[in-house]
Amino acid sequence: MEILEEVKTRVYKFGNKNADGNSSMRNLLGGKGANLAEMSAIGIPVPPGFTITTEVCTEYNELGEVAIVEMIKPEVEAAIANIENLMGASFGDKENPLLISVRSGARVSMPGMMDTVLNLGINDEVVLGLANKTNNEQFAWDSYRRFIQMYGGVVLGMKPASKEDIDPFEEIMEHLKHKRGIQLDTEFTVQDLKDLVYDFKEAVKKRTGHDFPTNPWDQLWGAVVAVFNSWNGDRAVYYRTMNGYPADWGTAVNVQAMVYGNMGDNSGTGVCFTRDAGTGENVFNGEYLINAQGEDVVAGVRTPQQITKLGSQRWAELAKIEEEDRLENYPSLEELMPSIFKELNGYQDILEKHYRDMQDMEFTIQDGKLWILQTRNGKRTGAAMVKIAMDLLKEGMINEKEALLMVEPNKLDELLHPIFDPSALKRAHVIAQGLPASPGAATGKIVFFADEAAKFKNSILVRIETSPEDLEGMNIAKGILTARGGMTSHAAVVARGMGKCCVSGAGALKINYKTRTLTVDGHEYHEGDWISLNGSTGNIFEGKVATMEPELSGEFAELMELTDKYGKMKVRTNADTPKDAQVARSFGAQGIGLTRTEHMFFEVDRIKAMREMILADTVKGRKQALEELLPMQRSDFEGIFEAMEGLSVTIRLLDPPLHEFVPHQLTTQKELAEDMHISLQAVKNKVAELEEFNPMLGHRGCRLGNTYPEITEMQTRAIIEAALNLKEQGIICKPEIMIPLVGTVKEFEAQEQVIRATADTVFEERNDTVEYLVGTMIEVPRAALMADLIAEKADFFSFGTNDLTQMTFGYSRDDVGKFLPIYIEKGILKVDPFEVLDQEGVGQLVKLGTERGRSTKPNLKVGICGEHGGEPSSVEFCFNTGMDYVSCSPYRVPIARLVSAQAAIKAKM
Ligand code: PEP
Ligand code: MG
Repeated sequence: MEILEEVKTRVYKFGNKNADGNSSMRNLLGGKGANLAEMSAIGIPVPPGFTITTEVCTEYNELGEVAIVEMIKPEVEAAIANIENLMGASFGDKENPLLISVRSGARVSMPGMMDTVLNLGINDEVVLGLANKTNNEQFAWDSYRRFIQMYGGVVLGMKPASKEDIDPFEEIMEHLKHKRGIQLDTEFTVQDLKDLVYDFKEAVKKRTGHDFPTNPWDQLWGAVVAVFNSWNGDRAVYYRTMNGYPADWGTAVNVQAMVYGNMGDNSGTGVCFTRDAGTGENVFNGEYLINAQGEDVVAGVRTPQQITKLGSQRWAELAKIEEEDRLENYPSLEELMPSIFKELNGYQDILEKHYRDMQDMEFTIQDGKLWILQTRNGKRTGAAMVKIAMDLLKEGMINEKEALLMVEPNKLDELLHPIFDPSALKRAHVIAQGLPASPGAATGKIVFFADEAAKFKNSILVRIETSPEDLEGMNIAKGILTARGGMTSHAAVVARGMGKCCVSGAGALKINYKTRTLTVDGHEYHEGDWISLNGSTGNIFEGKVATMEPELSGEFAELMELTDKYGKMKVRTNADTPKDAQVARSFGAQGIGLTRTEHMFFEVDRIKAMREMILADTVKGRKQALEELLPMQRSDFEGIFEAMEGLSVTIRLLDPPLHEFVPHQLTTQKELAEDMHISLQAVKNKVAELEEFNPMLGHRGCRLGNTYPEITEMQTRAIIEAALNLKEQGIICKPEIMIPLVGTVKEFEAQEQVIRATADTVFEERNDTVEYLVGTMIEVPRAALMADLIAEKADFFSFGTNDLTQMTFGYSRDDVGKFLPIYIEKGILKVDPFEVLDQEGVGQLVKLGTERGRSTKPNLKVGICGEHGGEPSSVEFCFNTGMDYVSCSPYRVPIARLVSAQAAIKAKM
């Protein structure tokens, strides 16, 4: 019998309007590789090359370098031959050399995960051939020194020795510049560049103990392996963890023929976006540099120029540069190279229409020929994300469902962050102006090093420029300010991806890392001084500028309206105060899913009465104290009912263990003893008596109500009286009374009986009634198992997935901090189950509880009020479970509304 073994392709070629792969293969080819293939296939001029698949990265992690090189060598050699063929040059050839670039490319873009290696394939002999071929010695030697610098840093680990130090290669260059009395890299002579190459190689030898590799194939394999290793490097691991990307995705490696932006004044390189990544405005924009290579644009060493005339003029206005000066020294690409601009403009249009989304492209002009190096869906701020989705919809490029699916739920969070209070802004003192790199308002204390961002609760990271090492600190800081770098600098791109406020390229700032000072106009600011940034205008303010709540308006409001058209599952909010209820309602909450009544007891004037109630030894004493609490509770409920007029409001009876309310400090214990005219010892005794071994599993929830029914009576009375009072004013309220921590039917029945009897008494007293429901939380595993019987009695279920997670895993909510981070680090758990619902385990109980509940009461209203009610993947799960609503904190309401709509759309796909 013949066994046909399927040969797995590990290397995918592209170039010259052909490609082995396409854009649907991003899991295998990585985002960059898939797009290069796709672009090549639709006729965009991309330099020919190939992609080594992400699977090879995973294989590399299992099998190691030797086995992998052996495995892919024949395919890689064939692919290099294909590039040689298309470019008419040979890899490692002394006369007609082909140089290549090597880049990483995971299935999602991970900015700064691994720096690119350019000009690979060069050595002491090839450089001569390159000089001959291009008739440009300067260019050839400049390419060589860049290669050693990049390869040294990325592959051979030549990094700064400490954070105060600069890059070892930069140091050598600075030294030479100083010696030669020059300022710019472009001022180096051929001899300078030759000296640099020599010194660089010496530095490598000294630091690593090995000669710099001269064989092009050795260089290539070194770079490929370095890309694979970068997948498990600190930066990548941090980025992956931050975004929840699994380790087994791996990264692809993209190898491409080099094209040169640094071949003289007819060459250049740039980055561009089909729309504004900060605001979403539909304007083509970007930056370029003449006679430069890719990293020069993002490194922020030279000031990049704008692609379009409009962009250039806007930039000049911000930078306070006169039109004449601008035209002379910083002309746009549109003005400087009109035909190249026209061609580029055509491609950006084709690519945006092809991908039906905003594109972020890189291009190079080599001696008057335009090459597109990459395109990808551009990273954008939350505001830009919403505007672009709604604009593409209005332009007819996508339909409503696609617009909704295009919006990333968690990114909406950015639109819900505070903005500067306009009146405070008027009074604020502007100390300098930079570029509005990533919108938002940020106020914090200055820190100069990314690894010190956590030094203050609110910090602003101030850097000359940022690098991928700074990722973690950038994430912690409230805002980022850089002295160098344009709108496409590392700081700007990463900040926009994170939705973090960023002002970049504020040239007036003089930053001194050693003295930890920032000087502007002769004024010195130190670490720990407050500053504020407006990422939408580029303004930098002295001190702390007051902020205010954002509102739902413009495209954001339109998007939210659209969610209601598709979302079947309702979104309620968890709110304990009228203010929270109002905020949530303004964000579109359709009711309250949980009011935790205990929070109301912690306020100063109430805690005393609460404590008196707890300390009372008799029912009479307790009732007296409860009498005091009654009017306060009633007015709380009136406020909440009013804010939620016409909508359902679920109020949960007292839940936490009583010891949380009693004083544990001696001074407060003394005060209480005095107030109550009892001995200090009596107070101490009571506190000791309330102490529990496992308070979370102790005397709490309905166990309180069932042991002290007078508490349930008081709370029910407060709810019903509040509802009747509002009814008198013509305000409709729909109270739903919720019993916590039910595990047995009897527990529910006993409480329900107290509630109904109390309500009847109040109805009789007032000679009026309101409709109300009595339901229960399902948060004890037993309740989920007994749901069919409980549903026979309960009007509704609300899954309390905080406690349900606690009791299903057996992890104390109050103690998980001790082991959960280690579990996540070790991969024992993928995510925190208190944040993301464990659909596999806890989810079974949620499903089962819902099904069993509805088996006896088919129309049973089911919702969720644990923290998971605002977490996108959990909300989707709730929809698929058939819940009527999710309930989440006010600021998560828009996110849950969006996910509710997305889940409904996906379910029909
Ligand atoms: C829950 O347990 O999920 C819940 C909402 O209640 P709490 O967090 O107040 O225990
Ligand atoms: Mg609970």
